[in-house]
Amino acid sequence: MIIVLGKKADDKAIEELTEEIENKGLKVFISRGEQKIIVGAMGDERLLNIDHLKALPFVEKVMPITALYKLASREFHPEDTIIKVNGCEIGGDNLTIIAGPCAIESEKQMLETAHAVKDAGASILRGSAFKPRTSPYDFQGLAEEGLKILKKAKEETGLPIETEVMDTRHVELVAKYVDILRVGARNMQNFDLLKEVGRTNKPVILKNGVASTMKEFLMAAEYIMSEGNENVILCNRGIRCYEPELRFPILSGLTNLIKQKTHLPVIVDPSHSTGNKSLVVPVSKAAIAEGADGIIVEVHNCPEEAKCDAAQQLTPPEFREMMVELRKIGEAVGKKL
Ligand code: PEP
Ligand code: MN
Repeated sequence: MIIVLGKKADDKAIEELTEEIENKGLKVFISRGEQKIIVGAMGDERLLNIDHLKALPFVEKVMPITALYKLASREFHPEDTIIKVNGCEIGGDNLTIIAGPCAIESEKQMLETAHAVKDAGASILRGSAFKPRTSPYDFQGLAEEGLKILKKAKEETGLPIETEVMDTRHVELVAKYVDILRVGARNMQNFDLLKEVGRTNKPVILKNGVASTMKEFLMAAEYIMSEGNENVILCNRGIRCYEPELRFPILSGLTNLIKQKTHLPVIVDPSHSTGNKSLVVPVSKAAIAEGADGIIVEVHNCPEEAKCDAAQQLTPPEFREMMVELRKIGEAVGKKL
């Protein structure tokens, strides 16, 4: 249920309204937009006395939220959410480029790559210390040692850092080191993990599962948000299709459709979607043209030596060239880098 407040709503009125809703066992979430304050009452709406709520002098409108995902929906929060991380803004008219290697492999590899992406104009640095690999015999990541290297890269470059967290047991540790947590495609419906990252105060990049529907994706975001963490960045990383050379294509129109449904920033992953560096630039350009709030892209100082995802990682010069192109597309659609 959405309760749109009018001009007469002061702090005391909001407090009384909150108490009335909470006494009925529902949770209250407040969205303070530039134009309006919207109170979300989440739970069994039948317990509320709607006529009484409508009659309150400071209430303008009372409406049901029709979407299954409530906090994530544009109905609850009509304006774009802008997430601030260490001086970097994600969402709205900002274009955010998250770049870095697939995995943190060594200090030299991470630091060289970090300086290269910073110099080319990246906004945030990526790198994984815990790797979800198809084979248990493949490189699994450097774990805490990797997080320490990533933190060093932040100290040297000044870029905010993000990394994947795969396990509820690691959330606290990972949150100690990085600015943004990432939940990968394989864990999109790991509900315990979603709740655990929802209890932290770190923004979360949530990637869609490769066989998920949009509704399932947005419900996964809702899990994080319903724990109190509303700073969720959705990442469209493509879904499985029948053309192996396209791997997990980013459906044309989907990023835009997600943005119509939700106020959360939506970025695109051209690297894991295509698995092929020759497609990374065109897919990134298309994503930004369509309204994506940014991309998360893999860059490696020496891709041929990469311990994972060698075929999709850009070299620093390739990334630099791509940035020139992306700036132009961003400008054309009113997004600033
Ligand atoms: C990643 O971004 O490092 C990754 C493993 O991607 P995904 O979870 O989308 O497969
Ligand atoms: Mn990768």
